[in-house]
Amino acid sequence: MKDDLIALAGNPNAGKTSLFNAITGARQHVANYPGVTVERKEGFYSHNGFDLHIVDLPGTYSLTAYSPEELVARDVLTTDRPRVVINIVDASNLDRNLYLTLQLFELGIPVIIALNMIDVAKGRGLEIDAGQLSQKLNVPVIPTVARSGFGKEQLLEVASRIVREGAGSATPPQIPYGPDIDPVLQEMEAKISSAGLLSDLYPARWTALKFLESDEEVVSRGRVAAPELSAELEKMVSKVSEHLRKTLDTYPEGIIADYRYGFISALLKSGVMKQTHAADRLYLSDRIDSVLTHRIAGPVIMGLILYGLYYFAFTGSDAPVKWLQSGFAALGGFIQSHLGPGLLRSLLVNGVIGGVGGILGFVPIIVFIFLGIAFLEDSGYLARAAFMLDRVFRVFGLHGSSFMAYVVGGGIAGGCGVPGVMATRTLRSSNERLATILTIGFMNCGAKLPVYALLIGAFFAKDKAQMMMLLTVISWAVAFLAAKFLRTTILRGPNTPFLLELPPYRLPTLRGLLIHTWERAWLYIRKAGTVLLAVSILFWALMNFPRLPASKQAAYAAQKRAVAAQMRTQAQGGSGQLGARSAKSSALAAIDGAEARAALRYSLAGRMGMGLEHITYLCGFDWRTNVALVGGVAAKELVVSILSTAYSMGQTGRGKDAPLGAVLAADPAWNPLVAFTLILFTMLYVPCVVSVVCLAKEAGSWKWALFSVLFNTTVAFLLAVLVYQGGRFLGIGL
Ligand code: GDP
Ligand code: MG
Repeated sequence: MKDDLIALAGNPNAGKTSLFNAITGARQHVANYPGVTVERKEGFYSHNGFDLHIVDLPGTYSLTAYSPEELVARDVLTTDRPRVVINIVDASNLDRNLYLTLQLFELGIPVIIALNMIDVAKGRGLEIDAGQLSQKLNVPVIPTVARSGFGKEQLLEVASRIVREGAGSATPPQIPYGPDIDPVLQEMEAKISSAGLLSDLYPARWTALKFLESDEEVVSRGRVAAPELSAELEKMVSKVSEHLRKTLDTYPEGIIADYRYGFISALLKSGVMKQTHAADRLYLSDRIDSVLTHRIAGPVIMGLILYGLYYFAFTGSDAPVKWLQSGFAALGGFIQSHLGPGLLRSLLVNGVIGGVGGILGFVPIIVFIFLGIAFLEDSGYLARAAFMLDRVFRVFGLHGSSFMAYVVGGGIAGGCGVPGVMATRTLRSSNERLATILTIGFMNCGAKLPVYALLIGAFFAKDKAQMMMLLTVISWAVAFLAAKFLRTTILRGPNTPFLLELPPYRLPTLRGLLIHTWERAWLYIRKAGTVLLAVSILFWALMNFPRLPASKQAAYAAQKRAVAAQMRTQAQGGSGQLGARSAKSSALAAIDGAEARAALRYSLAGRMGMGLEHITYLCGFDWRTNVALVGGVAAKELVVSILSTAYSMGQTGRGKDAPLGAVLAADPAWNPLVAFTLILFTMLYVPCVVSVVCLAKEAGSWKWALFSVLFNTTVAFLLAVLVYQGGRFLGIGL
């Protein structure tokens, strides 16, 4: 036990960090809890010459053992045994916040309730009687506004008094769990308490409840400490479980949760909370929701919004994309005419400008999509979408909270897998979480957008927004099916319930939108200037070395000399000067082109690409595409830049400065079917290196990272072959 420890506990967003900062100011220290990516924040405060040591627990809705946050919070509460817990509740969401409070009561540590956000509650027309709440729960309740520090002094006063003197005889009420659970609970509690099972950690009633909830951590600890007693307890639990399943088709866990909510609801209705007037904004939100989340109209509107977003992004960005691309082409042309031929020129024109310029050219589309997503997020619409899709997610073994992870990961094209994977931390069940993590890679992250934009622009220019819709649907469908597959094979397990509040709609501020858009766009641009630049140059080198053997180079040089000589004699013969000169230059250009292509084939990258052709011919990819796909493992934008480098090297004469899209559209080896297959493969194959590393960290093992690499690539390849062969068979897109 640490003698002066105070813990801050509460739901995410209840205002813990604000309160913590208000109390400790700069006297704080942040570290990670060992082995998990959960922050441990500690701080100090002197109150009337008395030193308080405060720890900010991770935000949780519950104290089950589902998520790392919950485990950490529980662990600190039971092993460090703080003198008092300050439980911060969001007064504007009392019913949900008190759920955690009841569990804190059961842990037997003195609790003080900080009734936070009373300003927000007032704004929503809620009037909360803190005195009555305190009386009914038999714990101190202090109204606070953490953001402004209001109530902080009183809170610390009470807290330091309890640290000094203890909570006295004040004990919070015991929650009844109904006729099925209560008798068993009492019996179990008695057995646990007389045997002293885990009594150094938990009160007996808590241990009994955790056995009833089949809490893995507590049950396995019990088994180690007292195998016989634990077996007996588990037998009692399975008996009552069986009974509940037969009579009510539910589990003890479900009943326990129901009774807790029932207790809270009765408490609030008993006069603790009054709705004085419906806040206007809330009322308006309800009205809007009756349309936007309507059973039938809701999903239709959702589809239209998505379509509108893509339409807006593609049409709005059309002109700037063209300016940027012609800007980069002009820059390339400038260098071309001011630098002599040679490696440096090739590096700058093909490697740097072709590579990074090819990607940066698509920045406007990305900016527009980010702007749209920021709008949907800030306005509160995305929470509605999650709410509507929850049932769909369930069908595929996922969870309503998977929605945000998917969207962040590129569910609305343009996200990024790394924050997407991090966003799964809100998922409580590890199997649901893993299934989400492993399928986020199928979403259309921002890195895939340049590839889509290039190929859609070149082959499906008439239906840009429709194609993006189609790709969105495909990626979600693949992710759902893959999740279902995982959840019925290696990640089997029950679904956990979904609690989601619908925040009122807000009109986003322009400033907020611009900041959000800029943050994301800047990350993207910075990546293009650093990682992508480096890998582009690496691949340029792979495409240039080893160089053609001297004998081959000499042979091409001889051919060129021969053409030149032949032209000279013809010109002396007196035929039209102009015609002869252009015939000569195009003949020379053809030889140059042949030489460049031979050189590319001869290079390391070329050989690698040709080696892969033995498999990839099944999906219509030639060796240049293969090289691009290999590079795309580092980052998928590179598919575009490497293709661009590969094609600009092989190009000569007219069309030299043409954008890559036009080059591909004119190339006989390419057609809409190949383009579509490549889009599909790019969408689905191995996630980029950075997200694989992140995945390994979040999933807790490299095994899962390896799995995802193999799994995604297999899915991508099978689907690509199916689409390409199917398309050829049916004669579509040739
Ligand atoms: P945590 O997740 O519990 O750490 O919550 P934070 O301290 O990060 O607070 C979440 C948000 O609520 C922040 O934007 C705070 O500024 C805001 N906030 C916190 N306390 C109050 C409050 O009492 N009133 C209002 N209006 N906002 C608050
Ligand atoms: Mg916080």
